[in-house]
Amino acid sequence: MTKSAIKIENLTKRYGKTNVVDNFSLIIEKGHIYGLIGPNGAGKTTIMKILSGLALQDNGIISMFGDSKNLDDQRKRMSFMIEAPYLDGSMTAQENMMFIRYVRGVANVNRIDEILKFVGLSDTGKKIVKNFSLGMKQRLGIGMALLSSPEIMVLDEPVNGLDPEGIVDVRNLLKKLCDEQGISILISSHLLSELSELCTDFAIINHGKLIESFSAEELETKCRNHITIKTN
Ligand code: ADP
Repeated sequence: MTKSAIKIENLTKRYGKTNVVDNFSLIIEKGHIYGLIGPNGAGKTTIMKILSGLALQDNGIISMFGDSKNLDDQRKRMSFMIEAPYLDGSMTAQENMMFIRYVRGVANVNRIDEILKFVGLSDTGKKIVKNFSLGMKQRLGIGMALLSSPEIMVLDEPVNGLDPEGIVDVRNLLKKLCDEQGISILISSHLLSELSELCTDFAIINHGKLIESFSAEELETKCRNHITIKTN
C-alpha cells in the first residue's frame, strides 16, 4: 500500500476567537500536485505554516510520510517557500545558492550548477538578484528549495504577481519536477485559473474550511460546456 505524502486531519487554528483554519482535512498523495485555492485570508498560509512548524495548530493531526510523531524529522524531507523566498538582493544567483548550501549543509557543490540550469538561471552570471524580474526571483527561490533534494515542496502563492510568461515558466518548472523527479507539491493561489493547467488535484478553501476537493479530470468535466435540461 502506498503511503500518503501528507495527511491533514481535522486541523483547527484559532487566532483570538476566530477559527482561521476550521476542521480542515486533506490527503496529499505522493507524486501529485495539489492546488490549495482560496481568496486572501482564507487560511492557506496558516495551513502551510503549520505544516512547516512555523505555527502550531490548536487541534488536529498531521502525518508526513505516514509518521505523525516525529514531524521535525520528516520535515527534513520537505522544502517550504512561504510568503516570499529569502533572497539577498546584493548577491548573484550562484552566491545566494552557495549561502543556502552552507546553511543546509549540502555537501555536493555541483548541485548548484545543476539546479540553476534546471530552473533556467544558469546564464545570469554576475547579475545581482536585486535586478532580477519577479519570475526569476521566484525560480531562484524554487531552486533554493530544491537544494536539499526534497520529496515534497510546499509553495505559498509562487505565481502571485507574475506576468503570464512568468506564470508559464514557473508552471513548466513545477511540472518538470513532478514528472521527472516524482516530487509531490502543495501550492497555493487565490486564482484557480493560475493553477488549472498545473495541478493534478485541487482543494478549495474559504474561511478556513475545506469547501470542495476534486481532481483535474473532475475540474475538466465541471468546466465543459453543457446544457442541463430538467424535465418533470
Ligand atoms: P491566506 O494565506 O489564505 O491569505 P492566511 O492564512 O494568511 O490566509 O490568514 C488567514 C486569517 O488568519 C486572516 O484573517 C489573517 O488575518 C489571520 N491571521 C494570520 N496570521 C495571523 C496572526 N499571526 N495573528 C492573528 N491573525 C492572523
